[in-house]
Amino acid sequence: MVNSKQIIAIVAAIAKRMELEKNFLTELDNEIGDGDHGINLSRGFKSVQEKLPTWTDKDIGTILKNVGMELVSTVGGASGPLYGTAFMKAGNVCKGKTELTDADFTAAFGAAVGGVQMRGKAVEGEKTMLDALCPALKALRDDIDSGRTLIEAMTDAVDAAAKGVEFTKTIVATKGRAAYLGERSIGHQDPGATSSLYMLQTVLEVLKRD
Ligand code: ADP
Ligand code: MG
Repeated sequence: MVNSKQIIAIVAAIAKRMELEKNFLTELDNEIGDGDHGINLSRGFKSVQEKLPTWTDKDIGTILKNVGMELVSTVGGASGPLYGTAFMKAGNVCKGKTELTDADFTAAFGAAVGGVQMRGKAVEGEKTMLDALCPALKALRDDIDSGRTLIEAMTDAVDAAAKGVEFTKTIVATKGRAAYLGERSIGHQDPGATSSLYMLQTVLEVLKRD
């Protein structure tokens, strides 16, 4: 079970993590993009962090939807609408809920990844955040379906996302700005896959806390 208090704690912890990783994510985006990924996410999550205290009495669906809308309206780059859609889609699944079962949590993550796919029209293997998110979702689903705990399942999801980030180093970008580099994008890890890994690691850390 995941309650609204934990969701608030997760969002706050993601905001803190994005601030910490701001320079590194921006460095990664300097190599194959326009060097703003860390700046974009830290700005977006800073706004989220400022509004978060006014959302603490809301249901999980509303909290996640608000996070998504805030990201869409404050992040200029491609990642704003993509992560924004992810949180809004997850919010739809959690409408009216103040507690999520493991199945609800998995469904919310599934909707988030589906939202990124719909919005970005990308698939796995194009050197985007989906190369971290899709393997993570698969691991989460497989583990929950086979009766593992949410913490066990999220541990496997984080491992799968980390492998996905490594995999992005080996492939050519065919979506987003990095696609302009073609073959020259090989050897660099995708900034968005990296920020997705950090978000999933943060979710796991907070779930382990209580
Ligand atoms: P921008 O590319 O507009 O500067 P950011 O730097 O914030 O935006 O985000 C770049 C990241 O967005 C990439 O590393 C990649 O993971 C992700 N991305 C870009 N385009 C897509 C897409 N069509 N689908 C999924 N993710 C994408
Ligand atoms: Mg960029």
